[in-house]
Amino acid sequence: MTNQSIAAATETNPSVESSAGLASSSPSSAHLAEPKLSEPQKSAGQKRRWTIEDSEDLYRINGWGEPYFSINAAGHITVSPQGDRGGSLDLYELVRALKLRNLALPLLIRFSDILEDRIERLNACFAKAIARYNYPGVYRGVFPTKCNQQRHLIEDLVRFGKPHQFGLEAGSKPELMIALATLDTPGALLICNGYKDREYIETATLAQRLGHTPIVVVEQAEEVDLAIEAWRKLGVKPILGIRAKLSAKGIGRWGTSAGDRAKFGLTVPEMIRAVDQLRSADMLDCLQLLHYHIGSQISAINVVKEAIREASQIYVELARLGANMKYLDVGGGLGVDYDGSKTNFYASKNYSMQNYANDVVAEVKETCEERGLPVPTLVSESGRAIASHQSVLVFDVLGTSDVRPHLPEPPQDKDPLVIRNLYETYQSITVDNYQEAYHDAAQFKEEAVSMFGFGYLSLTDRARAEQFYWACNAKILEIARQQEYVPDDLEDLEKIMASIYYVNLSVFQSAPDSWAIDQLFPLMPIHRLDEEPTQRGTLADLTCDSDGKIDQFIDLRDVKYVLELHSLKRSEGDSPHSHEPYYLGMFLNGAYQEIMGNLHNLFGDTNAVHIKLTPKGYQIEHVVKGDTMTEVLGYVQYDSEDLIENIRQRTEQALQENQITLQEAQLLLENYERSLSRYTYLSA
Ligand SMILES: *Cc1c(COP(=O)(O)O)cnc(C)c1O
Repeated sequence: MTNQSIAAATETNPSVESSAGLASSSPSSAHLAEPKLSEPQKSAGQKRRWTIEDSEDLYRINGWGEPYFSINAAGHITVSPQGDRGGSLDLYELVRALKLRNLALPLLIRFSDILEDRIERLNACFAKAIARYNYPGVYRGVFPTKCNQQRHLIEDLVRFGKPHQFGLEAGSKPELMIALATLDTPGALLICNGYKDREYIETATLAQRLGHTPIVVVEQAEEVDLAIEAWRKLGVKPILGIRAKLSAKGIGRWGTSAGDRAKFGLTVPEMIRAVDQLRSADMLDCLQLLHYHIGSQISAINVVKEAIREASQIYVELARLGANMKYLDVGGGLGVDYDGSKTNFYASKNYSMQNYANDVVAEVKETCEERGLPVPTLVSESGRAIASHQSVLVFDVLGTSDVRPHLPEPPQDKDPLVIRNLYETYQSITVDNYQEAYHDAAQFKEEAVSMFGFGYLSLTDRARAEQFYWACNAKILEIARQQEYVPDDLEDLEKIMASIYYVNLSVFQSAPDSWAIDQLFPLMPIHRLDEEPTQRGTLADLTCDSDGKIDQFIDLRDVKYVLELHSLKRSEGDSPHSHEPYYLGMFLNGAYQEIMGNLHNLFGDTNAVHIKLTPKGYQIEHVVKGDTMTEVLGYVQYDSEDLIENIRQRTEQALQENQITLQEAQLLLENYERSLSRYTYLSA
């Protein structure tokens, strides 16, 4: 979790990159981060009114959200799905409108215009780099299907990509099935990665007859034999690529995708052997592409550069050995700035999309020119950078748990000493002794617990001791928050005092990477942003799993362990626990999360809608209903008819035995049956 460029980033610098894709940059683009840094103003004493600008700073929305997400005067998040080129809509109002159409939360909202904008940007960046360096070749990107295979999304992607001859990448046989049937753009590439058997290679090869340009990328030495056999059998020559195991190191979580121990790719000796094999089979003309992928979310531009440098050398060497080289495929890895810090932190990246394109284009051109070889068509397989921004998950808060206590009556002389000590500590807390008081209070509380263990303290007295302890912490925290520097030993206090916000979602279903690999997604309320969030909280999901929580959040430096949230507003009339809806949004989660989400506790797919901007507002293009209970139960081989029949028979028996009334039986059966056809999440 090092954050090397942070040191350079702490100066106040208001320069914010203009729209990522269109910013110009120098060829040596490994610049250090220059984030906009605005500490929340801690004007001692006088309280100003909280503004939406305060929320912008707090949640860093300009850092990670530009140009798609911002805050309007009403304190709601707005979405500008066409970036800086088009209109915007109020996310909070959209959610309310969707709820009126019976689309319950949690709700995944996909903005197809954002998807289009991402494709436009990526292609514009490469076009600009190609023009800038007079690169005598073209760029033909592909989308790695594994990033998000949803049909509506892939169909949109193919359509939006047509003007740029944007293609697809498949990493498995089922993904190949999708790509073969969906891609219909003349000249677009179909890159075939992953482990392959005979059937995979034959299918891909024959697809040339349908007008496809399938490139079978050899990832394992044995696949060369399969390719040779395919030609002999079919009489159609496959177009082949080779995946190189670069020695250039990746970085971060996926750093091990490169290097000698990587799972995929051929080492240099294996590549040489493959070339020899193909030459003997009279198939060296089939070898046209060099591919590498050094891992996802590359946060440092120097890593990108190092890899492209090594790969372009391998490319020219393969050409020199007689291969018919035409394409250089730089794989994925183009990062997403989840925390908006523009640093090489794992949740960020210290370069823009334009920097990335510039470095790829410049490096390849230089190497090919030096060696007097024609330049390749450049291919990239950027998944995360294309698919992340387009979807937003909106979910509601069901309730909160607060450790903040009611202060008990002051103790009397007859009360146990430990309680009196805690009370005295509470009374005496000031700016000058709050650190000492923190430790005193903790010690007295320990003492109280241990006395209770020995039977010297009643349960009621222990309760009072704990209440005073929490009161001390609350008072200390209030002082600590006013200070410029919080002493190290008090850092846990925010965490200890944080409220738990119970949220209507399953982390395992909707943000599996947050659970599995501690990935950070920007999270914030989508309304009330003109109000100060006075609470600090962590999120707990619906599953009965203590891992089903989110307790790490984006921050300018490193991560923070509590999120600033609003207290729930009581709604009148109803039960004492009912409150006005409080909606949170999880952003940039359009890549990988949906397909990796699992059915832990049988929480199923969430509802999803596709929204497109129109001149008059927006249009709901598709509604993809989330799983019903019947559907998730079906995944584990329960038939809902059988289940209902079972309950019916039991009810009948209970009726016979006078264990249940007829009305109760009716209600039970109705509820049971109705539930099965319902959403797996809670209804507010
Ligand atoms: C996963 C993967 C990608 C996509 O990587 P991103 O970082 O999401 O752009 C591209 N190519 C290959 C071979 C992959 O395995």
